[in-house]
Amino acid sequence: MGEDVASVRGVTFRRSAVATALWILTSTAVLLSGLPETVRAAFSGGAIAVTAVVAATSCLLAARRSRGRRRRAWALLAAAGYVGFSGNAVALLTGTTQTGDLAYLGALLIGALALLSFPSSPVRRPQVARMVLDGVVVGGSVLFIAAVAVFPGREVVGPWLSYLIALVLPLVDAVLATLAVFLITRSSRSDFVPLLLVGLSFVLYALADLSYATLGVSTFSLGSAVDLGWITGYAMGGLAARHPGAVGAPPEPRRDESSPVGATVLTFSLFIVAAMVGVATRAGAPWSPVATALWIVILVAVAARQTILVVHNERLRRELEGRVRARTSELRTMTQSTELVLASVADGIYGVDRAGLVTFVNPAAARTLGYSAADLVGHDAHETFHAPGADGVPFPADGCYITEAVRDGLTTSAEEDRYRRADGKDIPVEVTASSLLDGTHVIGAVVVFRDMTQRREVDRLKNEFVSVISHELRTPLTSIHGSLGLLAGGAVGEMTPQAARMVTIALESSKRLARLINDILEVERMEAGVSTIETANHSAHDLVRAAVDQVRGMADTEGVSVRLGEVTGHVHADADRMVQTFTNLLGNAVKFSPPGSEVAVSARPSGAFVEFRVADRGRGIPPDRLEAIFGRFEQVDTTDAREKGGTGLGLAISRSIVERHGGRIWVTSTLGEGSTFHVAVPRAEVVDHLTAGATKTDLIDVRVTKKEMG
Ligand code: ADP
Repeated sequence: MGEDVASVRGVTFRRSAVATALWILTSTAVLLSGLPETVRAAFSGGAIAVTAVVAATSCLLAARRSRGRRRRAWALLAAAGYVGFSGNAVALLTGTTQTGDLAYLGALLIGALALLSFPSSPVRRPQVARMVLDGVVVGGSVLFIAAVAVFPGREVVGPWLSYLIALVLPLVDAVLATLAVFLITRSSRSDFVPLLLVGLSFVLYALADLSYATLGVSTFSLGSAVDLGWITGYAMGGLAARHPGAVGAPPEPRRDESSPVGATVLTFSLFIVAAMVGVATRAGAPWSPVATALWIVILVAVAARQTILVVHNERLRRELEGRVRARTSELRTMTQSTELVLASVADGIYGVDRAGLVTFVNPAAARTLGYSAADLVGHDAHETFHAPGADGVPFPADGCYITEAVRDGLTTSAEEDRYRRADGKDIPVEVTASSLLDGTHVIGAVVVFRDMTQRREVDRLKNEFVSVISHELRTPLTSIHGSLGLLAGGAVGEMTPQAARMVTIALESSKRLARLINDILEVERMEAGVSTIETANHSAHDLVRAAVDQVRGMADTEGVSVRLGEVTGHVHADADRMVQTFTNLLGNAVKFSPPGSEVAVSARPSGAFVEFRVADRGRGIPPDRLEAIFGRFEQVDTTDAREKGGTGLGLAISRSIVERHGGRIWVTSTLGEGSTFHVAVPRAEVVDHLTAGATKTDLIDVRVTKKEMG
């Protein structure tokens, strides 16, 4: 509906534009023709009157269609048109120019009010004042040039007031045209065309009025090309009222501040030209009183304009200074608190640039490393304090997390790293390196590290304690277990059924206790590197077969079938340890499978490894526990130990064994559907190839493949 109205208005406007163009062409043809002067004058008077009435009525219709401030603006423009027309009519009928000019001046003032009524984004008062004064200077300068250069020495003819009003008219026109242009920059997009047309109409009036004033008020008569200015001026005003944008859209501000530069250049160019023309002509003939009066008006306007500008600028400057001061102190506070945080944290923090050179170090980092901050800044972090590996070979800078953070934009953590202090002592550290970003561009890295010396020592003491206790427990436990075994076997005579049941329970519990203690000691031995692994080449099938045989009995009891899938490849491993690992995985799989389901084992070579898989259709493992269950005493459910008889150490032992072989163990699982444990162990062929005089490059190849598998 709204669109229909808009398109109808668009068509109406185009038709009006064509009619206006035809009307202007006709008027031009008549006024420039060789028709007798009286005919032309009569035509001109009529044309001005008709155009004025049509234009004013168009404005009135636009006022009826629009709302709010816009309605007032169009109503005032209509009023200006009618007042102007009345003045013209009276002047034509009575033959006096003075009444007409006065009415015309009134019309222009109403026009100014109309322009100021157009909705625009908020305007500061100094801006309005400056624009009005610019209008005065521009209009005044043009008039002044006309007064002293085009018609020098012209005496005031006829009534003085009439002459003055006639001179003021173009000045007011110029002010209005400037105001319209100013409004264009401050109004919504839809107002652009109507305001442009209104501005154009005032420019046209200004030209005609200027000619009227300078050609001589008393001697002026209608019928020349000058009248075209008024005819087209009215016509443009009327056309503006017919534009679809006249009704307007909700105001959307276009620009925040109109730039005073263009206006200043225009104003002062004209002012300087006027001054130069004035100086040049003054030598020949003295200025007329009107020219002198104009010059004074111009000078006052220029002075006022500059004063307003300076005062306004000074206020802006003070405002800006205040804001800069406030922001600076905010920034200072922020920087201080950031520095305070950096200085207070217990963790070491340092930054490096893209080349790996230290850019800042917090006090904790400098203290831990035994350097002063100044000693470290500007030095290569990796070379200065990244300790070499256990074999004494320096860690390659290429694989350092700093390089990874800077080059690849990665955040990397290393739990078991070592830093070399200034005194040459190595300390264990836990490190996280992240890239420093400036937008999307990596400008360096920031590294946070923690001295783990004390934590490692506590761990060591704890492990030692557990290991000693376990050893101490094992001897008495062995005799308890032996004695209970003898009792249960009837070695000391027949027991009552009740006593026999209790002995059986005690025997079962002592077995569990023994298993737990053995597991603990096993983990300790593995981690301390005490227990050796004896590797040889074995067929994957033999190892898997041995493990399956071991769990067969348990699987039968649980009603779970174990299926041996395709098993190919040879591994270089410690057979007992591998069977131990697979038995543990198969045992878990059977334990967590529902009766009647199946556990499948398979193995196949993959790169430098043979990958074993133990898949079950059990309850599955939640995603956040997939890694945790490989830790010591970790179980998915706290009831697992009681209900399934586990210790939570099986997977920790398996991981130690597999990693001692240079392999990897991990699990994939879907909750409710089952889990698959994967074990990757080095292939026999690859290890043979390496030991039979392999080159360093081959070794690297194998390592790369290992990494890829991870
Ligand atoms: P446990 O002696 O308790 O079996 P493990 O280290 O072998 O100790 O296993 C740790 C925990 O991992 C188990 O208690 C169990 O919660 C979970 N888990 C291991 N294997 C499976 C599996 N196949 N299905 C579901 N959960 C499993």
